[in-house]
Amino acid sequence: MIRNIVLYPDPVLRQVGKRIETVTDEVRKLAADMIETMYDAHGVGLAAPQVGESLQLAVVDVSHDDECITYLRVNGKEKQLTDICPIVFLNPEIEPHGPKEAETEGCLSFPDLRGEILRPSEVKATVTTLDGETLVIETDGLFARAIQHEVDHLFGRLFIDRMSSARKHAIRGRLREMQDQFR
Ligand code: ZN
Repeated sequence: MIRNIVLYPDPVLRQVGKRIETVTDEVRKLAADMIETMYDAHGVGLAAPQVGESLQLAVVDVSHDDECITYLRVNGKEKQLTDICPIVFLNPEIEPHGPKEAETEGCLSFPDLRGEILRPSEVKATVTTLDGETLVIETDGLFARAIQHEVDHLFGRLFIDRMSSARKHAIRGRLREMQDQFR
């Protein structure tokens, strides 16, 4: 089922998502719906707060382009993107590292808004799957960026928070429009 995507400045986007201690049927259904909603919106990632659920749960799929990363290791083993995407992850802990790189990002909660975001180019993410398995994911490129973007959502952080002050200034009219539409 395709869910409604919550738009900025809905306050749920600023909440820290609750950790998921037990994977219920409801959580499984939410994850399946989030994958469907992400594909329908042509996104590469979606976090639970973006469908109005303040939980530590996100989905990512960047397997449309296997050249968008240079490496992927899962629990120390070399993997292909198609081996683990679409990935559903719970309760992530991430360690971004490597030189910071600027790339253009969008966000499904900010239609038509894009901006250059500076982020560390690599990430080590320790996550839990729906089956309770722990995965340590090490990667770079778009996968590392998408994971960092989604984990930000789970802690109430949005990509506009990471924009340069010049870019933020340039989009202030659009943000005000979105605030007016939300009221
Ligand atoms: Zn986003």
